[in-house]
Formats: sequence, structure tokens, C-alpha cells
Amino acid sequence: MNLRFDDSCITVAIVGCGGFIGSHLLDAVLERTRWRVFGVDLDFYRLQHRLNDERCEFLCADLAEPVVVERIAQFPLVVNLAAICTPSRYMGEACEVIRSNYDHPAALATACAKSGSWLVHFSTSEIYGRTAPDSGELEEDSTPAVFGPVTASRWSYATAKLLAERFIAGLPDLKWTVVRPFNFVGPYMDFMPGVDGEGIPRVLANFSTALLRGEPLKLVNGGKAKRCFTSVHDAVDFLFALFAAGGAVAMDAGSGTAPGVLSQAFNVGNVENEVSIAELAGKMRSIFAKVRGVDVSTLPEPQIVSGEEYYGAGYDDSMRRMPSVAKAQRLLGFKARIPLEVALEESLSWFVKHYDTGASS
Ligand code: UDP
Repeated sequence: MNLRFDDSCITVAIVGCGGFIGSHLLDAVLERTRWRVFGVDLDFYRLQHRLNDERCEFLCADLAEPVVVERIAQFPLVVNLAAICTPSRYMGEACEVIRSNYDHPAALATACAKSGSWLVHFSTSEIYGRTAPDSGELEEDSTPAVFGPVTASRWSYATAKLLAERFIAGLPDLKWTVVRPFNFVGPYMDFMPGVDGEGIPRVLANFSTALLRGEPLKLVNGGKAKRCFTSVHDAVDFLFALFAAGGAVAMDAGSGTAPGVLSQAFNVGNVENEVSIAELAGKMRSIFAKVRGVDVSTLPEPQIVSGEEYYGAGYDDSMRRMPSVAKAQRLLGFKARIPLEVALEESLSWFVKHYDTGASS
């Protein structure tokens, strides 16, 4: 079977379909293809507009149940986005984090190897570990992974993801592609603490929450770490480039040779959007002031906090995460294109519109 956009017959299984990336992918699949979707998640609140779509079937479940895993693996293309990926949970809930990021994906990969499905597995840019401030481009197949102290539970997530990658790559007969996201941002990202989630979300949702509540943005250890923030729309475009390149060949039974995009890990990030967290705070304050029509000087000044004080014992950090994007360019002709300011303004405007109901303050 060929997986092409003009095929009306395939069903893609999206695990973690109700999440930030999953909800954008679902919309794009329905808008750009004639495919059907089998969506699995524990909640679907981001998908209210799709719940009655006749091309979708939704299952409220997680990968802890073997029968769910078997069912998902019946579909020819499986995209696994399900994961606990809230940094504050890496410290206090390491076992849950490891189950979600290693045990469950390993079970799904095993089932896909048996059924012959193409597994597109979402890993993380965090598998490169505790990168130094002057570390260069992180290359998918050659950069060493160096973590912090062996007891720092910050790395529970990254090491579980890394082990899942090794398991997937080692499974005979599995058709797989691994995606390593570099700080995706956009509407529907994470949650607002105390409103639709608990704990500390990732930095963009944190800063957006603080701005909406009139609180200072917290700069962990001075906000010196750097990230390449990447629009979720670029991420979705990457996936379509991947589906187009891999789809035609991935399902050919017994083709014997691994085509370009199979058995590969890809960084997905925007190298032009690198910024320190302190610079990000400045940009977000300006965007918020513009969106609200207020003077930026009326907003509280950012505050420096220590990582351990903010996240708890065992926190550690990567100081720079600059992807090499040469492989995605070479094999897929893909390059992220949405500039930082556009991505931030879209995300923050969405956050303000979505949460500013009075319930948030
Ligand atoms: N960070 C921060 N203030 C916050 C949340 C995060 O300064 O309110 C920092 C965090 O210490 C890290 C960076 O922002 O250096 C990105 O953190 P995030 O949790 O978004 O994800 P990561 O890229 O570390 O996985």
C-alpha cells in the first residue's frame, strides 16, 4: 500500500491526539488529505470542533493497556505523541515519567514491528542532555549525549526518551522514524496552572500566565539558557514532508531496503529563532504590552529565581539547544520558516484570548 496524499483509504493513528501537537496535526490531516484518523488520548478538550467529524474515531485510553496498543498497531501509519513532558514533573514523578516515555512507547513499537505499521515516534531535543553554553549544532547521529549528575532527576525524561529511541532502533523489522522537537510553540500549548493543569508548564505558557496575572516573569538561574523556539505550524509541515517522502515506500511489504526517511532520527527546529530565556522574557513583555495596548513599563520587572527553588531538588538544565537541520533539508527539503516574533505573537495572543475570562486571575 502506498501512503500518498491522493489515497483516500488510509487511516492514521495519532496517539496523544488531544495534545498540543496532536490537535494541530489532526486539523492538518483533515484539511490537507482525505485520510481518516484514529485518535487516542486521555482528554479531548482541544478537539471539541472535531468530535463529531465522520472521518475521526476517538478512543479515551492510554498505552498502559495492551489491548489499546494492539488496536493502534493495526493502522498502517502510527504517530506517537503521547508523553509526560512537563519539566516540573521530571523531579517529583520520575517513575511515571519513565513509564510514559519508555515503557509505553516500547510496547507500541513492539506491536508495530509485528503488524508492519510505520511508527513515527516523537522523542525530544532533550536527549542531547546537559549542553554547555558554547555547544555547537546538535547533530542527530554524531553528537554525544552528556547528562548532568547521575542523581539529578531532571534527566529522568531525557534518559527514558533516549532509551526508547535505542529500543526502537534495535527492533528488528520495525519501520520507524524518530522526531526530536526543538521547543515547539503555538496555540494550545501546555496549560495555565490552576485553571486546566497543575505544576509548572514550559516557559512560554509560564510567561504567558504571569503576564496575564500581572506577576513577574521568573528567570531560572538568570535566564541565560538559550533555545530555538519553533512554530508548531513548521512542525506540522515537517510531518507532511515526512509522510510524503516516506509514505510511498514505507508500506511496500518486503521491499527489503530502508528508504531515506526510515530508520532515521530528525531534529525539527528553527535555527534562526535562537534566543536566551532573558531575551524571550523581554520579547514577550513587549508583545503583551502591544496586544493589551499598555506601556511595557507598567508590567512588573522579571525576577531571577534558582532552578532548585523553582522546580525542586534535582533540577538541572541544558544551556544551549541549537539543532543541526541539515538532515531534514537534505532528505526532505524541509526548513522551518516561521520567525520568532510571529510565533510568539500568535502563541501569546491565543493564550490571552483563551484564558482571559476572569477565571484566570
Ligand atoms: N524557564 C524559566 N522560567 C520559567 C520556565 C522555564 O526561566 O518560568 C527556563 C528553564 O529553566 C529552561 C528554559 O526556560 O532554561 C526552557 O524551559 P522549558 O521548561 O520551556 O523547556 P526545556 O527547553 O528546558 O525542555
